[in-house]
Amino acid sequence: MIKNIAVIPGDGIGPEVVKETIKVLDKVAEKFGHEFKYEYLLAGGCSIDEYGKPLTEETLERAKASDSVLLGAVGGPKWENIPGIRPEQALLGLRGGLNLYANLRPATMYKELSSASPLKSEIIGDGIDIMIVRELTGGIYFGESGRNETGDWAYDTESYSKSEVERLLIHAFEIAMKRNKHVTVVDKANVLESSRLWREVTREVAPKYPEVSVDYLYVDNASMQLVRNPRQFDVIATSNIFGDILSDEASQITGSIGMLPSASLGDGTFGMYEPVHGSAPDIAGENKANPLATILSGAMMLRYSFDMKDEADCIENAVAKVLEDGIRTGDIAGGGEFVGCKEMGDAVVERL
Ligand code: NAD
Repeated sequence: MIKNIAVIPGDGIGPEVVKETIKVLDKVAEKFGHEFKYEYLLAGGCSIDEYGKPLTEETLERAKASDSVLLGAVGGPKWENIPGIRPEQALLGLRGGLNLYANLRPATMYKELSSASPLKSEIIGDGIDIMIVRELTGGIYFGESGRNETGDWAYDTESYSKSEVERLLIHAFEIAMKRNKHVTVVDKANVLESSRLWREVTREVAPKYPEVSVDYLYVDNASMQLVRNPRQFDVIATSNIFGDILSDEASQITGSIGMLPSASLGDGTFGMYEPVHGSAPDIAGENKANPLATILSGAMMLRYSFDMKDEADCIENAVAKVLEDGIRTGDIAGGGEFVGCKEMGDAVVERL
């Protein structure tokens, strides 16, 4: 299979972690007989340096023309004080311009890294594997908001259309079909009318996926269950604001920011894949960054955009093997010996 990937390394450690991910993707292509063609694009601080703005129309158009986007990270102190311009505007521009409305944040905890988790070992068991599917372009963050004339009264509006909920749920159910076939819809249906709409739409979508079991949790209960019994979850489908909060809670229980991939999906199979972490200017250029979050984002691209299950499994198994073999970057070293970003990339490639 030939796939065109738009690669946006960005700033700080972005280019370093992306470079290791390309090595991994190339090896997978060779092993499975695919061809990945890369088009490198500028966005973020480096685009401000080159074009005077964080994201150009041309970059957006080229990203749109690709099969999927792989992004490192953007931002850094160099671009912090430019009036009206911030590198991070590139992210919003890409997500909006590419119409990416479903955000996927896996919270995967490898048993080898369980000491980094704040949870007790009996709760963690063999590890945690949750996928949070968060609605990204609607709800209260985009609803009508305002203040009265004196400024002492303010409001924000949570609103969802049936079609917004439906398209998000379809992604959640499709993803569940590729995982453990269980979806938990998290809402506040005891109080919010918009949550009751989420449940109605779920009852319409669910019968199309008879193999997937469904349950519902109020968000307050879900936040407790995530720390009490996280292994009960497979896919969590939820609104923008609830997903924002729960995905940070879930990522915290896994321990390290250098391990967390993410994806943003739109219609069809197109997606943008990026690590959860930022550009880490404090360690940029020092070969200290953990590339695993970006490498795992590459695996998600293969699984969710290119329908390459075996190839994605191969990368994820190689990452697990690296950890089993005790190879660590500084952020997950726990005081022991550790390797650099490049060596971590090599270690994954060797185990593919
Ligand atoms: P950060 O995630 O860049 O760094 C937080 C801490 O985690 C730092 O100590 C860093 O060294 C460490 N860290 C992060 N990723 C790591 C990795 N892969 N390996 C090892 N250590 C890692 O967050 P920040 O410091 O708040 O932000 C730095 C810059 O990144 C800012 O300009 C911010 O706006 C930007 N940012 C970008 C994105 C993105 O591109 N998606 C996300 C968050 C922050």
